[in-house]
Amino acid sequence: YTKYGIRKYGAHGTSHKYVSQRCAEIMGKPLEDTKIIVCHLGNGASISAVKGGKCIDTSMGLTPLEGIPMGTRSGNIDPTALEVVAKHEGQSISELINILNKKSGVLGMSGGISSDFRDLDAGMKDGNDRCRLALDVFCYSVKKYIGAYAAAMGGLDAIAFTAGIGENNPYVRRVSTMDLSFMGIDIDETKNEIRGEEQKISTDASKVQVWVVPTNEELAIARETVELVTK
Ligand code: AMP
Repeated sequence: YTKYGIRKYGAHGTSHKYVSQRCAEIMGKPLEDTKIIVCHLGNGASISAVKGGKCIDTSMGLTPLEGIPMGTRSGNIDPTALEVVAKHEGQSISELINILNKKSGVLGMSGGISSDFRDLDAGMKDGNDRCRLALDVFCYSVKKYIGAYAAAMGGLDAIAFTAGIGENNPYVRRVSTMDLSFMGIDIDETKNEIRGEEQKISTDASKVQVWVVPTNEELAIARETVELVTK
């Protein structure tokens, strides 16, 4: 950091800001008093821990090679694996990074079938084990961040799912939050069938509220612009 100014910056900040603010609003709670995990799950995907309206941690790193696996991007990977592959394949670090960005993630895990979750859903329904594997690794990864960020914030009021997959994929939402009753997270399977609409999908008994909150990055940008020019 000292030499090159390299730092972790995260991604989808506009979406995380809008969704966390909106989530507090629809819960009827002041943002300052909330602990929210925002799961922005799209072709690019990042998860944030928003405590009192401030993002205290985010899954994506300097590049999409840190965090959960995405459409074509690997997410977390042990750098030693790169050294081994580089040696055997005679590839440079740049070539390997390119593969990790463009040919990995659920595309790689599905055996090259698709980076699009609709295709993976269809493949899984047709009994394709690689599609199921890719979806389940993705969901397992989301679940790990939910656990980690609840711990990091010392509690949790809500989880908000957003972006293409977060808004439209009931399977991903269900499996990512499965068996988390011990943390007070319980999904209502019927409500969870919702696609692309703002709705609470947790049961009334669930201590942690789980919401689908369609993102609105354009509105967030417009709000920030107004704030900037009227300051
Ligand atoms: P994004 O990058 O936010 O546009 O998200 C892209 C991902 O969202 C793709 O994997 C799509 O399969 C998924 N997605 C977008 N719209 C829908 C939809 N209406 N139904 C199911 N999946 C969708």
